[in-house]
Amino acid sequence: MSAILPGATIGILGGGQLGRMTAMAARSLGYRIQVMDPDPSCPARFVVDACFEGSWDDARAAADLARGCDVITLEIEQIAVASLQAAAKYAPVRPGVATMEIIQDRILQKNWLVDHGFPVGEFRTIHSEADLEAAIVALGGRCFVKSARGGYDGRSQVKIGFGEDGGSADDAHEAWHLLGQRPAIAEKALDLEKEISVMVARAPNGELKSYPSAANHHENQILAWSVIPSSIPATLEEKAQEIARRIAEEMNLEGVLAVEMFLTKGGQLLVNELAPRPHNSYHASERACVTSQFEQIVRAVCDLPLGDVSIVTPAAIANLLGDLWLENEPRFDRALAVPGVGLHLYEKHLPRAGRKMGHLSAIGKTPEEAVSRVLEAKDLL
Ligand code: ADP
Ligand code: MG
Repeated sequence: MSAILPGATIGILGGGQLGRMTAMAARSLGYRIQVMDPDPSCPARFVVDACFEGSWDDARAAADLARGCDVITLEIEQIAVASLQAAAKYAPVRPGVATMEIIQDRILQKNWLVDHGFPVGEFRTIHSEADLEAAIVALGGRCFVKSARGGYDGRSQVKIGFGEDGGSADDAHEAWHLLGQRPAIAEKALDLEKEISVMVARAPNGELKSYPSAANHHENQILAWSVIPSSIPATLEEKAQEIARRIAEEMNLEGVLAVEMFLTKGGQLLVNELAPRPHNSYHASERACVTSQFEQIVRAVCDLPLGDVSIVTPAAIANLLGDLWLENEPRFDRALAVPGVGLHLYEKHLPRAGRKMGHLSAIGKTPEEAVSRVLEAKDLL
């Protein structure tokens, strides 16, 4: 296999903030970039050579994108298999179709993890309202029900049994209908000590590198802030690294993959879910690490030597959701006065509650200092 050198064209399926930041890194390395997105004014639009309009299941648009590209990657899991196959006729698609087929369906993904001996929390597969009713009981009354396909940022998920009483048949009925009567999984609600993620990169030539883990803080099932390194004990870090690296090997990953993990109050390390693309919890790698996740995906899909993943300085990020815009324009001038703080906006023109509009980053002498600076800056907005 030979490297795809700078000057070549990279195609990205999806032009959201992940595609935009990948495109910016790729341009720095001297590549040309094209994206495909349903929205002609998507965030990547302003930093790429060409933007093809097409929905995730528009195989013709995916082929049009790929025709002018030397390699194709993606920034969202939900690209239809037919679109990936159509693109693959013209350029290698990395990660490949087989990886994407497993990951884009939570049922297949969970079963793959179990079959390959990776630790996951207790769950049940749901194909009917009766399945869900039985699962709520079997899982002890409190659970997360997640559609097999299509969710992100806690969307297409229903929490059951968090009120006074445990989940009931009424809850099962309501959740089954809220989720559109489609296949789902129900997961036992776990008592979490911490959430972490490990980003791993693997090139077609087999080279593999994994980043030190990030610690992630969610609010309402959306990532609120994240910090590198995670400061978990060394033995757990080793375990987390081993899990992430083995998943990438067993999947024959080509590209990058974020492995989200739960650390339970009981001390168990469990895999939550897989994201075969740059990930919100590694935005801080732009400040914290020798090589950012965005440069790393470019190196990986172009079969270049992977970049050094060591930490230069602790760094944290805090997401900026559309809610912040609802009254007034945020006071970025105030936030930027905090030492070590940087601003990253995605050029989304319509702020909506819960929509990720950008993030703040901060470096610090310690992870704690990086987090406190980024949260202080966010409070000043
Ligand atoms: P998404 O695709 O929206 O990121 P996740 O499965 O990662 O979906 O769930 C989002 C968040 O919801 C998790 O990061 C975690 O905070 C919480 N969560 C999800 N499943 C569970 C669970 N089984 N137990 C406890 N918390 C959970
Ligand atoms: Mg998640």
